Amino acid sequence: MTWRDSNIHNRILRDAEAGKYGVIAAIAYNIEQILGLVQAANTARSPLIIQFFPWAIEASNGLLVRTAADAAKHADVPISIHLDHAQSEAMIKRAADTLPFDSIMVDMSHYEKETNLAKTRELVEYCNQREIATEAEPGRIEGGEDGVMDTAGLQACMTTPEEVEEFVGTGVDALAPAFGNVHGEYGPRGPDLDFERFNQIRSHANGRVRLAVHGTNGFAPELLQRCVEAGVTKINVNRLVLDDYYDHLRVSVGKMPHTQLIEEGIQKVADLTVKWMEICGSAGKA
Ligand SMILES: [Zn+2]
Repeated sequence: MTWRDSNIHNRILRDAEAGKYGVIAAIAYNIEQILGLVQAANTARSPLIIQFFPWAIEASNGLLVRTAADAAKHADVPISIHLDHAQSEAMIKRAADTLPFDSIMVDMSHYEKETNLAKTRELVEYCNQREIATEAEPGRIEGGEDGVMDTAGLQACMTTPEEVEEFVGTGVDALAPAFGNVHGEYGPRGPDLDFERFNQIRSHANGRVRLAVHGTNGFAPELLQRCVEAGVTKINVNRLVLDDYYDHLRVSVGKMPHTQLIEEGIQKVADLTVKWMEICGSAGKA
C-alpha cells in the first residue's frame, strides 16, 4: 500500500465514493468550532474533514491547526485536516513543512491556465513528497471568502472536460470544479448549478480523482443531496454549519457566564453539523 492509499483524507473520500455519500469538510475559525465539529462526528458516527483557510495559520501561528489535529487524533471516527485555498507557494511550503495537514488545496486558479498547471504540478509533487494529499481548482470559481483572493476582475470560468484531463495529469487527488457554484454569498436568485456540466466532468474524471463542491452557503438540503447523487464526495461548508453558532453569540453574549456561552456555542456547532451529516448520508458510516 502506498502513502496515497493510507493517507486518511484520501481514505475518507474513497470510502465516501464507494458508499455514495458526502463528507462534510467544514471550515473552522476557532477552538469552539473545532470542538463542536469533532463532537458532531463522534455523535453521528460520521467521518469528517476539518479545514482551514490560510488565515488560520497566520492568525494563530499554526496553533489552530495543531489543535484540530490533536482533537482529530483523539476522536472515535476518522477525521482529516485540510488546508483550503492555499494560494501562494510560500504558504503551501510552510503548511506542508511545519503543520500536520493530511491534505492541501493547491489553488493557483488566480494564474492563467498554463502557469496554473505548471505551478500546480510542482506544488503537488512537493506535498506528495511529504505524504500529503492535494486538491486543485480547474477553471475558476467566482467570488472570495475570508482572506482567499477574490476573483472579481478575473473572469470566472466554468470547468471544461479538457481542464479535468489536464489537472488529473498534475497528480492531484481531488478536484473542485466550477459549475455555477460561487464562493461567499449567492445573490437573491440563489445557487444555479449546471449539473449537465458536472456530469461531464465526472465522467471525464472517471474515478481518477475525488470531486469537491465549494461555495455552499445558502444551499438547501435537497441541492446538497443532488450534488452527492451526482458524485460529489467532499462537501465544503462554511455558514451551513456555523450559522446557529453566530446567532447564539449575537443573542447570548453578555447575558450568561462566558463559560456557558462557550459551551452552548460548541453545542450549536455540533447540533447543526450532525444535521448536515445526516443530509449528506455520512452519519453512521464511520
Ligand atoms: Zn473554495
